[in-house]
Order: sequence, then C-alpha cells, then structure tokens
Amino acid sequence: MGGLAPDGRIREQPEPVTSVDTRSPETLVIIGSGPSAWTAAIYAARANLRPVVYEGEPSREMIPGGQLMYTTEVENYPGFIDGVTGPELMEKLRAQAIRFGTRVEQENIASVEFGQHPFRLKPSYSDDIEALTVIVATGARANWLGVPNEERLAQMGGGVSACAVCDGALPAFRDKVLAVVGGGDSAMEEALYLTKFANEVRLIHRRDELRASRIMADRVLKHPKITPVWNTRVVEVLGYDAITGIRVENTVSGEKSDMPVGGLFIAIGHTPNTAFLNGQLEVTPHGYIKTPKAWRTATSMPGVFAAGDVMDDYYRQAITAAGTGCMAALEAERWLAHLGLGESPVLETAEAPVTLTQEWKAS
Ligand code: NAP
Repeated sequence: MGGLAPDGRIREQPEPVTSVDTRSPETLVIIGSGPSAWTAAIYAARANLRPVVYEGEPSREMIPGGQLMYTTEVENYPGFIDGVTGPELMEKLRAQAIRFGTRVEQENIASVEFGQHPFRLKPSYSDDIEALTVIVATGARANWLGVPNEERLAQMGGGVSACAVCDGALPAFRDKVLAVVGGGDSAMEEALYLTKFANEVRLIHRRDELRASRIMADRVLKHPKITPVWNTRVVEVLGYDAITGIRVENTVSGEKSDMPVGGLFIAIGHTPNTAFLNGQLEVTPHGYIKTPKAWRTATSMPGVFAAGDVMDDYYRQAITAAGTGCMAALEAERWLAHLGLGESPVLETAEAPVTLTQEWKAS
C-alpha cells in the first residue's frame, strides 16, 4: 500500500485510478491540483463522493500542483516542524487524496457548460464528462516580468520569488539587500514584510507614482529600510545558481545599470485561472470567482463551488487554500445531500436548491 512512512516521507506513490473507472454523471469533479483541490478531494473521498480530480497537464506555463511547485522551502504550513518543499507537500496531499479513492485525470478542463445540469465539462483530449457538482480550484498565477533568468531562478529556489510571506523568512534572504518590483498594494505589503529580514529593501517601480493605497504607500515611503527606485524596470536577473543582482533600465533616460541584490520579489499582480469558465461564473473586478456569501465557497452557480486562490485575492496562502478546499467539499456534500444524491447525512445547513436544480430533478 502506498502512503506515508512513519518518518513522514512518501513511501510509495499510490497509483491514481484513472478513466477506467469513470461514472456518468460524476458526482463531484474537482478542477485543479493545488492545496485547495487536494484538500477538497481528501474530504470528498472520505465522504464517499468518489471525486475525480482534473489535475491538468504539464505545460510551459503551468506545472500541475499549483504555485507551490515553484516554491522551494515551505516553513509555514502547520505540521512540518522542519519545513517541507513545495513539490513534496503537493505530493503528500495528492497521495493522501488518492489513498481515499480519489481518481485523478492528468488533463485540463478546457471548457465548461454550467447552463445545464448535470454540468458538462470538456477535457482537453478525452470525451466530455457530466458532473453533479464541481469545485473550481484552479488557482491564480503570479504575474512574472518575463525577463531572462527570472522564472528559471524562481523555480530552482535561486532567490527569485513572487511571495514574500512564503519565502522572505528563508535564511537565503536574511541580512541582504532585497528588491521588490511593483507599485501596488501587494508590492507595498511585500516590501514592508521583507524589512523584518533584510538590511535594505529597494522598491523598484516603473513610474514615479505608486498605484498603492495612500496608507500603504505612506507606510512604505516613511520606512527607514525601504528605498524607492523610481522610473525603473528590471530587464534581466543576474546570476547562474542564485541571484547576484538585477540589470535595470531607467524608463525615462533608457540608461541601463547593474544593481547587486540578494533576492528579487515580483509583486506585479496575479491572474486567476478562470479563462476556461468563459464568463459562466460571476467574478470580482479583478477576475476572482465571487463567492457571494461570507464564509461560503458557493459561487453564483448553484452546485459549483470555488476554493483556493481562484477565489481568494487576499490571503493567498497554502493553508488558507487548503481551508477553503475543505469548505468547498463540505458544501458540495451538503448540496448533494439536499438533492438526495449524496450519501451524507449532513443536511441541516444546505441552501435551498435553485431553479436549475429543480428543472434537473423534474427531467
Ligand atoms: P495592482 O494593484 O494591479 O498593481 C500592480 C503593480 O505592478 C502596478 O504598480 C503596476 O505598475 C506594476 N506592474 C504591472 N505589470 C508590470 C510589469 N510588467 N513591469 C513592472 N511593473 C508592473 O496589483 P496588486 O498590487 O497585486 O493588487 C491587486 C488588488 O489587490 C488591488 O486592488 C489591491 O488594492 C489589492 N490588495 C490589497 C491589499 C491590502 O489591502 N492590504 C494587499 C494586496 C493587494 P503601474 O502602476 O505602472 O501600472
């Protein structure tokens, strides 16, 4: 049997059960493969919902496993006293989900039709599938500058990151001069956070005016450890195994120079992975899936739930993603139970089924 050895290491990866075992309609389809998706799968599988996870296929832009696949050391996920690498954490969550019977398909969902029930989902290569409930847990990707060496060093833990809260406290970044790129609230937060560890934080912004809220901007500009570098963009990250500096260009004069830094944090926004939804769920002005009720993961479409960074532009942490994954699975279970479809005795907090569901029941 696969699973975790007593020392916490992955002993043997259980083989995912794949399409041989498909059902129509599927009870629950989970789209995504980050902490929210696997946590939803663990809860749903243990509740006998027989979830199938579409974890996606590797591509140049995306590795299944979400943003943690780009993180080396994770020190703030509870339960790992000595930390864990992002990929190892994802392996463990995935293995745990499979252990309880989660089926895994290594494909993307290319498009969805939520206007009918059962919902219809189109995987990238195989035949369409139907689903009674869906959890969208496709995450958000950090925007990168797209300059030479940036993503390579980010992937190998070479001192480039898109998350100061995740990586800033690592020994490699302590007592160094660090650079943060961006002029929005995220960049302000990252710069302020990094002052705990760095000797100096250089805030590199392409204009001479910040986009951030006044209060955040004031806090940053008054901070003795933060030096703004205006009208400047990064054109290359320097260093082979680890960052040694950045090549910058003045956006007014065009002059280029090299700036030695011990770490680079990119904070130029995130893009939630929602394109495949084709506008069928309501989203916020920044494109994140709306979950209209506080402390709920139900979306604007009854029977469709959202978890993780695709619905959270505020916390964006692995542990909060996992938390919303748990919430989504419980809500999906209750929704199914309310329709008399699940095997769960949990009924009391279910929302009233909506027109769409009633139509489906009648058919
Ligand atoms: P944002 O507000 O869109 O700001 C992105 C920043 O990155 C802008 O300053 C932009 O420059 C810069 N930028 C974009 N592309 C760039 C590129 N290719 N090269 C260099 N610079 C680039 O994104 P955000 O800061 O992630 O914030 C997103 C939303 O979350 C906002 O509504 C924000 O208020 C909110 N938020 C709130 C908090 C908080 O309240 N504590 C914390 C974080 C985020 P330009 O200004 O020149 O366009």
